[in-house]
Amino acid sequence: MNFENKTAVITGGSRGIGLAIAKKLAENGANIAILYVGDEAEGKNAVAELAAYGTKVEQYFCDVSDFEGSKKVVDTVLEEFGGIDILINNAGITRDKLVLNMDEKDFDAVINVNLKGTFNMIKHTYKHFMKKRSGRIVSTSSIVGLIGNAGQANYSASKAGIIGLTKSVARELAGRGVTVNAVAPGYIGTDMTNVLSDKVKEAMKAQIPAKRIGTPEDVANVVAFLCSDEAAYVTGEVIRVDGGLAI
Ligand code: NDP
Repeated sequence: MNFENKTAVITGGSRGIGLAIAKKLAENGANIAILYVGDEAEGKNAVAELAAYGTKVEQYFCDVSDFEGSKKVVDTVLEEFGGIDILINNAGITRDKLVLNMDEKDFDAVINVNLKGTFNMIKHTYKHFMKKRSGRIVSTSSIVGLIGNAGQANYSASKAGIIGLTKSVARELAGRGVTVNAVAPGYIGTDMTNVLSDKVKEAMKAQIPAKRIGTPEDVANVVAFLCSDEAAYVTGEVIRVDGGLAI
């Protein structure tokens, strides 16, 4: 895999799976723009870590659910990096509750970040990719977007939506040399899952055929492949990275 002279934009790139993807791409030569919404200092640490690979790395504040704000950030990256070759839609949130207790704002918040945020970023880069006649878009779905999960109706719906979005845009852009794929991680050890109780974690682990919790690097390896030249003929695909959990 060689990403030299390529620029990757990674939403939610300063921690967890997003940071692992950023590292994997930078390690193989990519310039990196990480978008963050939370802690600026954490973003700065990530930039410093990524800079060790010797490529251009910048961070930008970007709430992906904000259509106009995210457009401005994409335009700035296009100007400062001279183009975008790879878009990684990784930003995601949870607001887990049974539908019985889920209010409208829990549902809207998750859909707005996870699904609309993915649409926003694709929309803002779409023309650029079309004109370039090349590019890679990889979005982070989840196995719960495939099989559902009690207590995650909002999150599962957003992740299933990403699959429909991915397959549709893949069809739209295939003739332009742009591939559009998704990964569907299972249970991966990050801040998102660290909030679960030890009891829930053990119960989850027991259900995983591979008998271990996934790492952010497990996901990053698959995403990097989908971003590579070697994956040129793979589009509209959803690859589970789950140790067999959703077989
Ligand atoms: P984390 O909670 O560690 O990271 C979430 C990332 O999303 C953070 O970088 C955060 O940015 C970013 N983010 C949240 N809201 C916004 C927003 N409005 N605009 C821009 N960025 C935002 O989670 P993971 O690393 O585990 O998750 C990464 C992706 O993988 C998510 O889409 C998640 O749904 C998906 N996933 C994770 C699984 C797991 O088991 N961990 C399983 C399946 C899918 P900041 O750092 O600035 O706060």
